[in-house]
Amino acid sequence: MKLRVLGCSGAEMPGHKATAFLINEDTLLDAGTVVSNLTLEEQMKIKNVIVTHTHLDHIKDILFLADNLILIDKGITINIISAPFILESLKMHILNDAIWPDFTMLPTIQDAVLKLVPADVGVELVLGDITIKPVKVNHTVPAVGYIVKNKDSAFAYTGDTSLTDEIWDEASKEPKLKFVIVETSFPNSMERIANASKHMTSNDLAISLKKLGRSDITVYITHIKPQFLDETKNELNAIDNLCSCIRILNTNDVIEF
Ligand SMILES: [Zn+2]
Ligand SMILES: [Zn+2]
Repeated sequence: MKLRVLGCSGAEMPGHKATAFLINEDTLLDAGTVVSNLTLEEQMKIKNVIVTHTHLDHIKDILFLADNLILIDKGITINIISAPFILESLKMHILNDAIWPDFTMLPTIQDAVLKLVPADVGVELVLGDITIKPVKVNHTVPAVGYIVKNKDSAFAYTGDTSLTDEIWDEASKEPKLKFVIVETSFPNSMERIANASKHMTSNDLAISLKKLGRSDITVYITHIKPQFLDETKNELNAIDNLCSCIRILNTNDVIEF
């Protein structure tokens, strides 16, 4: 399995792109940054987009990807995969012919460029060589993280969340677990805003790693707010001094496992 970071920042500005990870060339895990990072040829290989929640920084490039691909007369259909309540929200609030065209009906309902594929929480879904399992997390809108597996390896991705239990339970008992990708949006000094927006601080990360209780895996950090990058990195380095497990992700990093 190969995972390429298309964007991993908690905000957009030059040098910082919204969240998206590309798994094995054909599957996106969140879609905050796609069309500005992948060539049209690479975009045409996408078959699945796995979505954690409907906040724009995780879904916005689904819209531009659909807009690009519908003009290519090859009958491309992309599966948009998430928990049913998240797909309903996406359809009602975004793909509603007001904010953006309803690409689940275009060019025709039979060969639409986007197909919504529900993935029930807690149930594994097979997508070619990988399986995914949505696990509820704790954010300001309904949100899930995922356990992603192939035959040899597994990883957990929290998406956006504040302190939560279930995904750490699931990850800790996964025998093939190789790494986790965890959001740490804010430094500890921004605890009030972190709590209000249901994101994690460095302290929350330390608490979460105790829940995970696995010293044998790498912890990749995503979604840091660039306004507080240095402060957050210093705090994460202090945690790394204790566990030697923390790596901060950057755009275009590739994890092979
Ligand atoms: Zn969010
Ligand atoms: Zn976000």
